[in-house]
Amino acid sequence: MAKRPEPQQATIEKMRRYVEKYWEKSGTVGHPDAEVTKAVVLGLAANTEECGRPLCPCNFYPDKEAELREHGRRWICACDEMKQWKYCHCLLFVTPEGMPITEYLPEDHEGRQVYGVVKDPTPDKGRESRDLAK
Ligand code: SF4
Repeated sequence: MAKRPEPQQATIEKMRRYVEKYWEKSGTVGHPDAEVTKAVVLGLAANTEECGRPLCPCNFYPDKEAELREHGRRWICACDEMKQWKYCHCLLFVTPEGMPITEYLPEDHEGRQVYGVVKDPTPDKGRESRDLAK
């Protein structure tokens, strides 16, 4: 399979700035291993160049255009799970210990099963779609 071209530096920087703003807005921080953040930002930038939106790079989509057409902004960063439950399965928006926040997730969500209950250290920030959380 042909290797995907690297995203342009300007796209990577734009994504990086977005992520920095969203750390501030959501009261989360970057992962202690900077390589984690770097890889996710690169994936977001690549998807932005490929399909025009920063589609979450940690999911597999059989068809990215169909995902956007049929499900709208569900997996556009910051995704519905982040906005409702403050949960980022890519580990881009985490606690200072590098853990994804899981305390608001439904109990049967895989994030709860994998990480247990991880409390939100900044409950006054983020979750702009908390009203939609089931
Ligand atoms: S899980 Fe959501 S918030 Fe985290 S990188 Fe993917 S789209 Fe962004």
